[in-house]
Amino acid sequence: MSALATQTGAINLGQGFPDTDGPAAMLDRAVHAIRSGANQYPPGPGVMELRQAVSEHRAEHYALAYDPAGEVLVTVGATEAIAAAVLALCEPGDEVIAFEPYYDSYAASIALAQARLVGVTLRPVEGRFAFDPDELRAAVTSRTRMILVNSPHNPTGTVFTRAELTVIAELCQEHDLIAVTDEVYEHLTFDGAPHIPLATLPGMRERTVMISSAGKTFSVTGWKTGWVCAPAELVTAVQTVKQFLTFTASAPWQVAVAFGLRHEGEWIAALRASLQDKRDRLMDGLTAAGFEVFKPAGTYFVQTDIRPLGFTDGLEFTRRLPELAGVVAIPTQVFYDRPERGGHFVRFAFCKKDEVIDEAVARLKRLSV
Ligand SMILES: *Cc1c(COP(=O)(O)O)cnc(C)c1O
Repeated sequence: MSALATQTGAINLGQGFPDTDGPAAMLDRAVHAIRSGANQYPPGPGVMELRQAVSEHRAEHYALAYDPAGEVLVTVGATEAIAAAVLALCEPGDEVIAFEPYYDSYAASIALAQARLVGVTLRPVEGRFAFDPDELRAAVTSRTRMILVNSPHNPTGTVFTRAELTVIAELCQEHDLIAVTDEVYEHLTFDGAPHIPLATLPGMRERTVMISSAGKTFSVTGWKTGWVCAPAELVTAVQTVKQFLTFTASAPWQVAVAFGLRHEGEWIAALRASLQDKRDRLMDGLTAAGFEVFKPAGTYFVQTDIRPLGFTDGLEFTRRLPELAGVVAIPTQVFYDRPERGGHFVRFAFCKKDEVIDEAVARLKRLSV
């Protein structure tokens, strides 16, 4: 879809990367780190300064204690953390439950581990995408090893509530499952919606591999710097795989992200506020253009239903959208195991400059005339 945007000159509200930079002082720290010699292999688990900053950040935001020596592992983005966790903890034939639609790397990582992905579908209920607790319970079998939980959730924008997380936590304990949590949008929630890490629920810290990343938090998706927090034996397992994927993550970014976690809290708060405005700007425009719009409580993304515009297939719709309106979006069906369940949904990203959103909205109005 990004290639289609380039070819046609359409505005790209498809891929979810921001079009503005991260905090200037943090960028300067990366330059400084390179200039002052942080250019050789860092230790396998990551630069100690970053592991310490991650540990402090977990304690401050979530009252979770992780020992920087043994319970924190720096990875090449959340993507590597997810792959290493799945490869480390699943045997061939194991089942991994993930909420569908899901981030595309999950299915690939699970396939590499020769495990089986079992999708539990999120469906619109009262304006937000949610799962049916009975359907989740029914998905657990004797082969289930792991639940992959992404909240705030890409691509639906759902932020799981404490009640929803409690259902997941109880199942994990009842069936002795490991939870792997993808929390890359932990700071990007709106209207005061709290992000609750699954590891903070009773009995969950000891069975949860908690994954975060600097990419979305600091608008540096190209830095590919993420981290895992978990009990030592789980971190050791993940690190054993990570060692032969990449051995270690790039040094300069680690130094800079440690600085960001310690000093850029206000910048993150400003990003969150600005994204909430952008969300509202895009939602108003999409509503005016005739879409049914689902209000996201977090992330960069708005889900829409295209049926009020007279379309039923999101793939066909998004292929034609550059010609119809000069805009590119993503057909949500690509995030499903069973594409027919998401055939009529289309995802738009709002992590873009206001003038870009305004121009896209003006163009999309063509759809309703
Ligand atoms: C962007 C994204 C990732 C990837 O994070 P990196 O740190 O860039 O690897 C993982 N999960 C979700 C849900 C994402 O949206």
